[in-house]
Amino acid sequence: MTDGKEELVLVAGGAGFIGSHLCRALLGQGRRVVCLDNLQTARPVNLRLFERHPGFEFIEADVVDPLPPSLLERTRQFTRIYNLACAASPPQYQADPEHTMLTNVVGTHHLLRLAEEAGARFLLSSTSEVYGDPEAHPQREDYRGWVSCTGPRACYDEGKRAAEAMTFDYARMGRAEVRVARIFNTYGPQMRPDDGRVVSNLVCQALSGREITVYGDGSQTRSFCYISDMVDGLMRLMEHDGVGMEPVNLGNPTEMTVNELLNHILDLTGATAPVVHKPLPIDDPRRRRPEISTARKLLDWSPRVPLEEGLAATCAWFASELGAGAPVEGK
Ligand code: UDP
Repeated sequence: MTDGKEELVLVAGGAGFIGSHLCRALLGQGRRVVCLDNLQTARPVNLRLFERHPGFEFIEADVVDPLPPSLLERTRQFTRIYNLACAASPPQYQADPEHTMLTNVVGTHHLLRLAEEAGARFLLSSTSEVYGDPEAHPQREDYRGWVSCTGPRACYDEGKRAAEAMTFDYARMGRAEVRVARIFNTYGPQMRPDDGRVVSNLVCQALSGREITVYGDGSQTRSFCYISDMVDGLMRLMEHDGVGMEPVNLGNPTEMTVNELLNHILDLTGATAPVVHKPLPIDDPRRRRPEISTARKLLDWSPRVPLEEGLAATCAWFASELGAGAPVEGK
């Protein structure tokens, strides 16, 4: 029910990397989008791509605080609520761990209550971090994880686990219809150059000729999903009517070591900058690869953009952002 007024989609965290791509895709489908963001780790310039779109509205607010009246007065118009609000790179979410935990717990609570009031469908962006440093490989949704609840990553990992628990409790109590996406490493244009994650760090270091930082010996693995695939997966999950009480892994199952990722980036950029090894961060997962058969079966979704293509687009985008000259091409 929207009282005859236009239906709205709320994207909390909509000025961030994934959130801004999602806002643009939703606007492209003709949806009206309200983006809520505290601009803590966002890249506000991302919003310039569509900030004048008549279907778009930006509200600066923190989900930890009571939701602003300008949003609450339109509660009944919201039919979809995406919760992507949280710092997501390890250095950024560890910079203010208390706020990270509160964002996941209190912020998710505020948005779930809004979803209940609105009768809106709610999607939580959860994370592969709920699996911690996994003993099971690849990671299936029914693996319960091996997470430290006392280490420096706990504010994010345990915050997301608590957010999942609350989200499913709302569904169990019939208070909201929910979706939970467990997002694996995602990359692409419009990441912050100073985000601190491995793709943005290595690409920016390679392009600017700075020393390239590999943490540990670089044998740890990750599986990298291109942003357009991730946004497609999130929208399919939100709109699919047959999702029950189950989290869904979204990620690209092509796994590689950090050293292999670096070699791809060196090939694409032609960089010759020196590689320095820094200590492996505490609790850094040794390996990570999503098992995505749930998303394949349920959503008919699997990633389409191969790493070479996605990395080439990402390197070209960072090259133009950094003023590093002509777009980078594969060698
Ligand atoms: N990493 C690295 N160099 C960097 C940044 C990260 O070797 O400049 C490593 C990091 O230790 C981890 C992997 O790359 O093993 C992925 O790190 P990221 O911060 O991107 O995300 P995570 O998957 O750990 O949340």
